[in-house]
Amino acid sequence: MTALKEHTPPTTSGPTAREARKVAEAARQTEWTRPSFGKELFLGRLRLDLVDPWPTPSPEARAKGEAFLARAAELTEGIDGRRIEREARIYDELFGELADLGAFGMKIPEAYGGQGLSNLYYNKALALIASGNPSLGALLSAHQSIGVPQPVKMFGTEEQKQRFLPRLAAGEVSAFLLTEPDVGSDPARLATSAVPEADGFVLDGVKLWATNGTIAGLFVVMARVPATADNRGGITAFVVEADSPGITVEARNTFLGLRGIENALIRFDRVRVPAENVLLGVGRGLKIALATLNTGRLSLPAMCVGGCKWCLNVAREWSAERVQWGRAVGAHEAVATKIAFIAGTTYALESMLDLCCMLADDETNDIRIEAALVKLYGSEMAWWVADELVQIRGGRGYETADSLEARGERPAEVEQMLRDMRINRIFEGSTEIMHLLIAREAVDAHLDVAGDIIDPDASARAKADAVAKAAGFYAGWLPTLVVGAGFVPGAYRQFGPLAEHVRFVERSSRRLAAAIFAGMARWQGAMERRQAFLGRAVDIGAELFAMTACCVRAKAEASTDPTGVELADAFCEQARVRVEALFTALWHNSDASDRKLARKVLEGRYAKLEQGVRLVRRDLPWVAPWRVGPSTTADVRRRLPKRS
Ligand SMILES: Cc1cc2nc3c(=O)[nH]c(=O)nc-3n(C[C@H](O)[C@H](O)[C@H](O)COP(=O)(O)OP(=O)(O)OC[C@H]3O[C@@H](n4cnc5c(N)ncnc54)[C@H](O)[C@@H]3O)c2cc1C
Repeated sequence: MTALKEHTPPTTSGPTAREARKVAEAARQTEWTRPSFGKELFLGRLRLDLVDPWPTPSPEARAKGEAFLARAAELTEGIDGRRIEREARIYDELFGELADLGAFGMKIPEAYGGQGLSNLYYNKALALIASGNPSLGALLSAHQSIGVPQPVKMFGTEEQKQRFLPRLAAGEVSAFLLTEPDVGSDPARLATSAVPEADGFVLDGVKLWATNGTIAGLFVVMARVPATADNRGGITAFVVEADSPGITVEARNTFLGLRGIENALIRFDRVRVPAENVLLGVGRGLKIALATLNTGRLSLPAMCVGGCKWCLNVAREWSAERVQWGRAVGAHEAVATKIAFIAGTTYALESMLDLCCMLADDETNDIRIEAALVKLYGSEMAWWVADELVQIRGGRGYETADSLEARGERPAEVEQMLRDMRINRIFEGSTEIMHLLIAREAVDAHLDVAGDIIDPDASARAKADAVAKAAGFYAGWLPTLVVGAGFVPGAYRQFGPLAEHVRFVERSSRRLAAAIFAGMARWQGAMERRQAFLGRAVDIGAELFAMTACCVRAKAEASTDPTGVELADAFCEQARVRVEALFTALWHNSDASDRKLARKVLEGRYAKLEQGVRLVRRDLPWVAPWRVGPSTTADVRRRLPKRS
């Protein structure tokens, strides 16, 4: 009989904060073999040469990509997005149509039956198809941005590529299984085990929220191999056949938005996986997950860009036509500022994303910081855009498309857009985790030289050595923060009317680096706990990157399309207001009193404030305990029709 080991979600037990940090650190890619615009930006150096001139796709990539987009546009016209909403599932026929298009193989090389699209065109196609219904974006990106194709393409052996990629390119769906009931942002808690046995491994555990989990034929599963005398073990990535004995899809989860998503709770009970299905090697799972996400992360902002474009269109047409108080609502300043925000933000997000994609495609830069910035910024700003659109639409913004249509009105799915956008701030790295991840990279140069000074575990000798090393670095670096092109009136004149904004970016980059340094000097080892400070610093970096992308793109396109300069100019004006506010808040804020208040809230001091309403039932835990062992529920897998 299988040993029943209950996993009770620990509150204070389980890995400590330090252990959790160590696991994340060990998975980090520490080397920088290519230049990074983002890294330099946080060090106070505006390396325009890394992003200017605006990159362009090769003629072959463009021809292939445009041809695919034309076919995808035709398919998207025919998508019945409202049916997906009503039935809360993507209808069977659409899977066939997507497979015929090649949508499941957009990122798979042609040699393995895929479309071999560049990052730029893959993400444009995703945004386009997701405009038919956002659940389709989730389906396709979970399948190939984080699902089996990407890690196999990046890290698989030739044999693994031959074995898996053609199946996936032809339309077999895949899923990525990392999260568990007790593992969200913190992989150190990962409990699914993979015990070596004969010529393979035996997997036991429960995986939560696996997008595509109810329909996938193949999973990438993250599981922990126990350490032995001759193997350190560790978190490992396995490609697993979804039909393997012992796998039960126990539930299809439902959400605020993305109603068509096929998201599952999946149990593994003594599931045998052959050794040849290990990706890269035992203990390399988190490295794979992080490296996969470096470019895989771009698909989420791609859908944010698509969402913003859709919002801009609704905002424009509605606000020009709807008349209240004697004028079109768009002519009232309170609405006009929202329209300007939506337009500027859409241009900025598209510029950031396209730039990141093209940098990823030509492989000249390390884009891990930029991709993380565009995920963070895209998800936050697109949510804000959708929220402003709801406001602009008034009562109709809160009404469903079906209800609008029943009254004979244009069925704009604005409330659905808001619901569907919300998850982007949570999955593939929540905003809070992205702040920490980017901050970690942003202060990397400092930690390289000053790491031992602020490491609470370092010996006195190591600290003394670090002080000496740091003194040398900072003696050279600090003076560079004082002067720069941003103070020279005619600098960056090649940017024409946008030059002033580029000068602002240059000055702000140095100011940001100085602020991060001041924070390190002030808090030292406690810096990593100053999350509000770090979050604001990262947000400033995101705004500066967005401004740079806009200005470089607008300059490149100015001769053929002067509207870019206008949009970039307007966006930069908006961004500068936010940047100034963030700089002020770095040092003038309520963080200390908020920390104190939150602690007392958690202690229950103000519980009386919660009285007077009906509260959540208390007979169930916040996180359900789970047991390793056979499933006690029916499998709820959805079988898609077999294709001839
Ligand atoms: C619709 C949907 C689809 C998903 N698809 C997949 C999938 O395909 N595969 C998969 O593996 N997972 C998937 N997930 C899981 C998703 O990635 C997690 O929800 C996400 O990582 C957050 O984890 P959590 O929900 O457990 O939040 P928790 O980790 O419990 O965090 C709760 C809150 O605390 C914050 N927080 C946590 N740690 C810190 C910290 N150190 N510092 C500051 N703040 C912190 C978080 O940001 C969050 O606000 C999906 C989830 C959803 C809802």
